Amino acid sequence: MNKVVLASNNPGKLKEFSAILAQADISMVAQGDLGVAEAEEPYATFVENALAKARHASRQTGLPALADDSGLCVHALGGAPGVFSARYAALAGGEKSDAANNRHLLAQLAPVQDRSACYVAVLVYVDSADDPRPIIAEGSWNGAIIDQARGGNGFGYDPHFYLPDLGKTAAELPPDQKNALSHRAQALKALLLALRSRRP
Ligand code: IMP
Repeated sequence: MNKVVLASNNPGKLKEFSAILAQADISMVAQGDLGVAEAEEPYATFVENALAKARHASRQTGLPALADDSGLCVHALGGAPGVFSARYAALAGGEKSDAANNRHLLAQLAPVQDRSACYVAVLVYVDSADDPRPIIAEGSWNGAIIDQARGGNGFGYDPHFYLPDLGKTAAELPPDQKNALSHRAQALKALLLALRSRRP
């Protein structure tokens, strides 16, 4: 197995990513377990933030690294909250919580008819800190923002992220179903394909 450092300390992500990437002979270790502090995420795009995090983790450990960045993009809001999804309400003076983020989002969308939105996940893999050819894999999941919260699963914006094809919000899906369909799942599939084609 090739050891790769995950530039995140989220145990859920470690589990989800490990399960898929074992198929490419990759075993993941969380950066926190190797004493790596979280990198800054100062950029306006998912790919730039993920690349910065992957390079940082690789530079600190000498290992190949994988990083992700994700968020919700609402079309009528010009792609906001985007890379600011986790701190959307806090940036407007509110608290940093899922509930405050959802309240802030619904307030922004109150006068808006077009509720289409998508979750986006970008994964970046680097072989080394200065890898000139990072692998970039993106997944997106289309839905629409609804006013009424529905469902108790998931996190973040899931209770308001409605999937018209399924007639449910992401928070109404069993975790296995969300993990098979989500933006992260799609990005992981794309990453697996890219890793396999680069290292046959
Ligand atoms: P991170 O990239 O995991 O830090 O996620 C950034 C933020 O995007 C989260 O804090 C959530 O607000 C939002 N987000 C990303 N993925 C999801 C999801 O699957 N469901 C709900 N919210 C999400």
